[in-house]
Amino acid sequence: MDVFDKCDQFKRVEAVIKAGIFPYFQVIQENHGPVVRMEGKEVVMAGSNDYLGLSQHPEVIEAAVKAVKEYGSSCSGSRYLNGTSILHTSLEEELADFLGVEACLAFTTGYLTNQGVIPTVVQKDEYLISDKENHASIVAGAWIAKARGAHVLRYPTNDIPGLEETLRKVPKDAAKLIVTDGVFSMSGRIVNLPEVVRLARAYGARVMIDEAHAAGVLGEGGRGTPSHFGLKNTDVDLTMGTFSKSFASLGGFVGGDRRVVDFIKYGSQAFIFSASMSPANAAAVRASLRIIRREPERVERLLRIAREVREGLKAQGFKLIEGVTPIVPVIIGDDMKTFQFWRRLVNEGVFVNAVISPAVPPGMQLIRISLIATYEQAHLDRLLEAFRKVGKEFGLSH
Ligand code: PMP
Repeated sequence: MDVFDKCDQFKRVEAVIKAGIFPYFQVIQENHGPVVRMEGKEVVMAGSNDYLGLSQHPEVIEAAVKAVKEYGSSCSGSRYLNGTSILHTSLEEELADFLGVEACLAFTTGYLTNQGVIPTVVQKDEYLISDKENHASIVAGAWIAKARGAHVLRYPTNDIPGLEETLRKVPKDAAKLIVTDGVFSMSGRIVNLPEVVRLARAYGARVMIDEAHAAGVLGEGGRGTPSHFGLKNTDVDLTMGTFSKSFASLGGFVGGDRRVVDFIKYGSQAFIFSASMSPANAAAVRASLRIIRREPERVERLLRIAREVREGLKAQGFKLIEGVTPIVPVIIGDDMKTFQFWRRLVNEGVFVNAVISPAVPPGMQLIRISLIATYEQAHLDRLLEAFRKVGKEFGLSH
């Protein structure tokens, strides 16, 4: 027996690659925001998380370039030791101000943020109560918490009676944290946050929300899920997010009361033992945040585009997961059919993400469209036209 024997399993990927329908690890040859070059031709990018299109914004690019010139290409170490720059501390203050929380802490990625925050906050004999559809990085944090003696309970996604039933199982005076995505990354659905907060208060639990797909997307000026529901970020106890989507960079953050953020800062392994965000990344986030604050109309435009695309696809007869976010899931219902549909869309000049099980339950395999605020009408027309044509071929639209 060799530990590498299992690596041969991945041979099955080869057949799909040979058939020319493998949708993953596609090389993007040039990135021009709404349009990218792949396989030597230009396609509309409808599978990126650059929701506000800021990764191509001259101000963001210039901030990143300037940071490299002033601070170098790397901080060469952990925030704890040599890796804290004025770019990080300024970013944390600016972000806390934007979110209306006391303090923020910037991690190296969003994944590390969840992996680092959860086991720091939820310790031995305490309870983590997690939505079943939460992101893999929350699951990773839960595993670590569990390995260290915390109890981890999961409830059916966005199911408020299910959450209450789970809370009832937890001893009344036990310390507990409910964690949920604000916007679920595969379905694009928004969590029923007011009800989660209500139950948390009723059962003495704290709430942590993952705003990866909600910050810069939902709520007043992109302030996220709490704002979408007329709540404040202080109504949830911890807000985490990533800088790799609307903020057009790389990194993650957690925000909340200063005493809690400080506790994470001095206690989280993922924070302490990982090198800090690069100067270019930190500067790009600061520039993006400035633009988001100055131009809230970008967020409005993104949601308008989402509405237009959702309505256009529904009118064509496609089955969507309903919602309002720029993640638009089109149900295909079978792995190979999803790959083939993806291939045909690329041939028609549109790049999307193919999502198969186990990322979604069998029968729910889907094409996930992620929209960008900087599309022009021609990009939207091309997207809808490609879906119309390919949908007809597959008998999924009329
Ligand atoms: N949370 C959610 C909900 C996400 O979708 C992602 C990224 N796909 C992350 C966390 C991790 O963020 P990052 O890419 O910055 O590691």
